[in-house]
Amino acid sequence: MDSQDVQADLKEILCTKEQIQERIEELAAQIDKDYEGRDLLIVGVLKGAVMVMADLARALHSHVTMDWMAVSSYGSGTQSSGVVRIIKDLETDLMGKHVLIVEDIIDSGLTLSWLKANLESRGPASVEIFTMFRKPEAAKVEIDVKYVGKDIPNEFVVGYGLDYAEKYRNLGFVGSLAPHVYA
Ligand code: 5GP
Ligand code: MG
Ligand code: MG
Repeated sequence: MDSQDVQADLKEILCTKEQIQERIEELAAQIDKDYEGRDLLIVGVLKGAVMVMADLARALHSHVTMDWMAVSSYGSGTQSSGVVRIIKDLETDLMGKHVLIVEDIIDSGLTLSWLKANLESRGPASVEIFTMFRKPEAAKVEIDVKYVGKDIPNEFVVGYGLDYAEKYRNLGFVGSLAPHVYA
């Protein structure tokens, strides 16, 4: 697939590479301040959060440890099933730790509210959420998100870790997918 083909699959660019990096720098400075003097474990949710974890971790100035979880809720389609399954669990014992879950996007919020409750049951000192993108639907669920990169319209988006049938994750920016791609 050449770059020409990728552009044709996108309807609109919602967040450029530069906008993403600038926002991550801002939030990282906030996180450095909020967790000053405390050990922080950042937990990336595979596979979508790989890009944002890598950029956020490098933008932080404090010591952090990193771990990963993989959960499934979507399959390869574009609708949340509401059923969450752990594909890969953490290797870290959360007892007494300050945990920050790092997500690519919150849509219905079903995945994250389940995940937050799951991690809270493991005895951590705190569990907070960072999401790079958030859709309006997420406002309907009771979920307290401490750090939000950007609120975006209610459209299916790809890029910067976000996939459609495993494609487009490698884009440095985020765009809405043209309907002809999944129609
Ligand atoms: P939620 O449970 O909040 O509805 O969404 C769970 C997961 O679905 C997100 O972490 C993300 O991996 C995926 N997802 C939600 N909305 C989108 C989207 O617009 N594009 C892509 N590629 N994935 C999404
Ligand atoms: Mg995700
Ligand atoms: Mg996906």
